[in-house]
This record gives sequence, C-alpha cells and structure tokens, in this order.
Amino acid sequence: MTTNLSRRALLAGGAALAAPAPLHAQGAMRLLVIGGGFGGASAANFARRTYPDVQVTLVEPQTRFVTCPYGNLLLGGERQIGQITHSYDGLRARGVDVIHDRAAAIDATAKSVRLAGGQALAYDRLILSPGIALRWGAIEGYDQAAAETMPHAWIPADGAQTLLLRRQLEAMPDGGVVGLAIPPNPFRCPPGPYERISMIAHYLKRHKPRSKILALDAKEGFSKQGLFQDGWRALYGDMIEWVPGNRDGKVVKVDVGERVLETEFGTRHKVDVANVIPPQSAAALAIEAGLVNDTGWVPVNTRSFEARAAAGIHVIGDANIPGPMPKSGYVANTTAKQAVASAVALHRGQPAPEAVYFNTCYSHVGENYGISVVGIFRPNADGTAITEVPNSGGVSPRGDLPEQRRLEALYADAWYDSITRSMFG
Ligand SMILES: Cc1cc2nc3c(=O)[nH]c(=O)nc-3n(C[C@H](O)[C@H](O)[C@H](O)COP(=O)(O)OP(=O)(O)OC[C@H]3O[C@@H](n4cnc5c(N)ncnc54)[C@H](O)[C@@H]3O)c2cc1C
Repeated sequence: MTTNLSRRALLAGGAALAAPAPLHAQGAMRLLVIGGGFGGASAANFARRTYPDVQVTLVEPQTRFVTCPYGNLLLGGERQIGQITHSYDGLRARGVDVIHDRAAAIDATAKSVRLAGGQALAYDRLILSPGIALRWGAIEGYDQAAAETMPHAWIPADGAQTLLLRRQLEAMPDGGVVGLAIPPNPFRCPPGPYERISMIAHYLKRHKPRSKILALDAKEGFSKQGLFQDGWRALYGDMIEWVPGNRDGKVVKVDVGERVLETEFGTRHKVDVANVIPPQSAAALAIEAGLVNDTGWVPVNTRSFEARAAAGIHVIGDANIPGPMPKSGYVANTTAKQAVASAVALHRGQPAPEAVYFNTCYSHVGENYGISVVGIFRPNADGTAITEVPNSGGVSPRGDLPEQRRLEALYADAWYDSITRSMFG
C-alpha cells in the first residue's frame, strides 16, 4: 500500500513545496489557464510548483469547486457536500492569479482571451480545460428546464444537481423505482454511472430496501462490468436491473410531467426518481472557438496537447479526444502536467518532452468495497496517436476477495486526497 500511495502522490504532483510569491516580472512567460477543474487547477498548480519564472493566471467562474469524483458517495450518504468542495485559496497562495469570471471568446491570432466581464487577457500560451457540455435535446424533451426535475448531476458546478438528486432519493417512498438513463460512448467518466448505481443501491438498501433501480443503458457493455455486477449481486441481491442497448435500454425521450423514460423501441418506464445522463460534447467555449471536429470533441497533438485547429492553445481534460484514455479526472491531472511542460518548452523553442500518461479509476461499489482499472499510455513521436502500453494496467481481480475490496476502497480515498491536493493545495 505504501508503494502505491507514494507512486500516486508522485503522479498527482509530488510533495508540497514552499509557496513562491506571485511573479509578474517583465518578460516572464504568460501562461493563461481557462477552467479551474481537474485539468485547469492541476495545470495552474503544477506550473507554479515547477516553473517559478512563469506567470500563471487562472480563469474560473465558480469561487468554489465541487468535484464530480466522490459526488456518488454523497448520493450514497458517505460524504457531505463540504467534503467534496474546494476553494482556490491554495492556488492563490502559490502565486496563481485567480480571476473569477467566464472566458467569453478566444482570439488565437492576437493571443488574447476576452472575459464575460469585459477584461482582455493576453497570453503567450493558453491551456484550456473547460470540461464538457451536455447535449440538450439529444434525448427528446431533456433540456435545462427538465434537468430541474430529472437531474443529470454530471457537471459539478456548485453541486446543486447532485444535491437535488440526493433530496429526491430521500423523498422517494420505500418501494419506489429509481431510473437512470446512461449515455453512449464517449462520455465523462466511463465507470461513473455504474458507481452511481452502486451508491444509490447502498443508500436504498439501508433506508428503502423494497426499492428498485432500473438502469437503462445506450451501450451493450461497460467499464469494469464483471466486477460491478459481481458486487451488485453480492451486496444488493436483485435490487438492480441493468438493461443494455441491444435489449431496448437506450432512452430516446423523456416525459418530465409523467416522470417517464422512453426507450428506442417505444417502451415507457414510469419511475419515481429519474437521473438522466445525456450524451455529451466538449464545453461551449471549445466549440465556439472552432476547436472541435465533427465528433464534438477537440483533436489535439497527443504529445503537447496543442489543438490541431489552433497553435498555442493546449486543450486538456474531458474536452479533448484522448485516444484510448478515458475522460477521467486522473487523466486530466496527468495530461495537465504534460501540457504545461510542453507549453513552456515550445515557448522556449524546445520540443515537447517525452511523455507517459497514467490512469487509475477507482469505483466504490459498497461500504469498504472498492474496485479499479489502471491504464498506462504513451503518445507516438509525432503526436498523432496514443497507445496503451502492452501488458500494463488491468482491472482488479474477480472473486470473493473482501480484503482486496477493502484496501481498494482505502486506496480510492487516498487517491482523492492526493489529487485534490495537487490541484488546490
Ligand atoms: C459522477 C462522476 C464521478 C467521477 N468520478 C471520477 C473518479 O472517481 N476518478 C476520476 O479520475 N474521474 C472521475 N470523474 C471524471 C472527472 O470528474 C472529469 O474527468 C474531470 O472533471 C475532467 O476535468 P476537466 O478539467 O476537463 O473538467 P472539469 O473538472 O469539469 O472542469 C471544467 C471547469 O471549467 C470551467 N469552465 C467552463 N467553461 C468555462 C469558461 N468559458 N470560462 C472559464 N471557465 C470555464 C467550469 O466552471 C469548470 O470548473 C467523475 C465524473 C462524474 C460525473
């Protein structure tokens, strides 16, 4: 465990260094970071720890950041909102100039970003990590207004969506049905919906044991499927029904008033609580800046993370197309460091450094019951592809292994502490 923890701490940014004073020296490289979530906060933090001569500005509208990771544990009753909420004070103490505003437009030629408040910020290199947008209307009837009744709880913002879903679970009578609509690939956090199912089941088992979960999935399989389903059977009996896309699991329409999820073949499922996770794309800013291709995501150089469509703009986090890597907070964090190192090197006329990317996605299936998937990836020399290193990574072993599950739940908690420290600490 010690070895794993120290490796994770190292990957997530290493030991804390003394906070350097803000630096606004004439001629210092100006690194502008847009978006203060997993990619952006990691990039700003790493830049100040590693390159004290670089001037770092972070633009983020929210004054506090509520993480998606561990939001499912809030639904399960295992975390409170304060435990997954982070301030930007630590970044300020490191010398990052944090501006709470929204980036409204990017001028890649003039190397300038205009904020909603009117300010224009010039940069030498821009790091963009604005996250995802939900494709309103991709499921008929599911728009922003519908999300106030059928929460998605898939973008952290201020945590309101996650809290709304939690309140709905609390208000649901015992014996009710919780329906989930789960999107096709690619989407933010491949194991996330299934950890959510687990944590909702965890809550229902203790408080409303006659209730059911109906998980309607657009896909035919999912991340860590065997491990999740083993855990569901062992912990929750027949509480969970998962319906894959090839058995009419794909939700295409919602009726908010009737609380109905309607599938591709016209089956109408009436539920008591509906959690609709719609199809996704890169966030609006990336689309408006002309950085996405027809997939809705941003193609990048896989070594420098520079957008294919605009020199000098490095796009990290869920907004980009990360080859075989999942859209995860861990990947956002590890690639943020490579993007910063590349931005600095390219600004200095040097090539982007060689890279290796790591990912571990932990999921909580129940109390003291954690599972994980690990991947190690490398970009090729010309930055056109990323491949998984052969025989690296893998998933937790299957079988009746309570000690392994208990330890993985602990590793998950340690991962959360270490990654959020490397972002906000
Ligand atoms: C339920 C759930 C559980 C998850 N669990 C895990 C997990 O256990 N492990 C894991 O590794 N990953 C997990 N993830 C995935 C993880 O949350 C994302 O991969 C990660 O947040 C991506 O980072 P990002 O920087 O791209 O986006 P975000 O973290 O969403 O940050 C984007 C930021 O950009 C800001 N922004 C957007 N537009 C603008 C603009 N115009 N101007 C300025 N700022 C802007 C937003 O306010 C936001 O703060 C989970 C996701 C979900 C939904």
